[in-house]
Amino acid sequence: MAAKIIDGKQVAAEMQAELKAEVAQLRQEGIVPGLGVILVGEDPASQSYVTAKERACAELGIYSDDNRLPANITQKDLIALINKMNADPKINGILVQLPLPKHLNEGEVLIAISPDKDVDGFHPTNIGKMVAGQPAFLPCTPHGVIKLLQRNGVKIEGAHVVIVGRSNIVGKPIANMLIQKSKDGNATVTVCHTKTKDLAHHTRQADIIIAAAGRPNTITADMVKDGVVVIDVGVNRIKDASKKSGFRLTGDVDFEKVKEKASLITPVPGGVGPMTITMLLYNTVESAKRAAGKI
Ligand code: NAP
Repeated sequence: MAAKIIDGKQVAAEMQAELKAEVAQLRQEGIVPGLGVILVGEDPASQSYVTAKERACAELGIYSDDNRLPANITQKDLIALINKMNADPKINGILVQLPLPKHLNEGEVLIAISPDKDVDGFHPTNIGKMVAGQPAFLPCTPHGVIKLLQRNGVKIEGAHVVIVGRSNIVGKPIANMLIQKSKDGNATVTVCHTKTKDLAHHTRQADIIIAAAGRPNTITADMVKDGVVVIDVGVNRIKDASKKSGFRLTGDVDFEKVKEKASLITPVPGGVGPMTITMLLYNTVESAKRAAGKI
């Protein structure tokens, strides 16, 4: 039986509509959530991500403070801007678009962001709180994966989740979130990576597979059991002469074949991708509510 396709665009649109209504209510109380955006240099992909984030802010009624800085900005000047935003009550979240030019120290820049405004959830303070199960800004892509599962009626509690990938921004945080003793967690989690022996042995036992390897066809149909739920985080560029751009995007999963065995599966594009930006907006609204003492 072919799987139901999880529509990430639809879930993202529903969540953004809910956030828009919440922001309208907050604005009536004089609370305007604000996102400070920093883009260094002129990388076209980063420019388009930042533009999309600012457009989404405008659509939801979130104030955005746009800072496009020259590629040769010094570490000192960049950190001075972050400190200014840390002190600015109009700004509830600070987003530094990565990657930064090589002469800048990314770790030092991210740690300069106040943990109270770290809406990307990359600050060690927030990572520590997440691991300890305390309230924290959760990183956007992992949190988006959990929302996708919940909003498609997938039971996480008690499920065996196999995660392929252990990066700091995807695999590790998802694993940590899913093992929490909480309503969003209580899963049994296996984390696989390039040193895992016999990946298929693990994935075949999974009720839920989360693929975040960054390699096409990492998960093929012979590696999954019937009825599995598959979340494909991977985004890979494949050469495709039939496309104007010369490439197409694909995930880490052999979508066409795996969807014949799975019960639910995300496509790429249109699965996890739209959730990442939504969770950034969600965190910004959460931050504004915390700053106003509402939560
Ligand atoms: P990453 O830092 O390159 O990490 C990849 C992880 O996958 C590593 O832990 C690696 O193992 C593991 N891995 C790679 N090939 C494997 C294989 N054949 N078998 C088992 N494990 C394997 O990548 P990332 O930043 O986590 O991103 C993963 C993918 O998600 C990328 O395609 C990225 O573009 C995409 N992504 C999408 C979004 C979104 O919004 N949709 C957001 C973030 C990332 P080792 O640790 O042993 O090297």
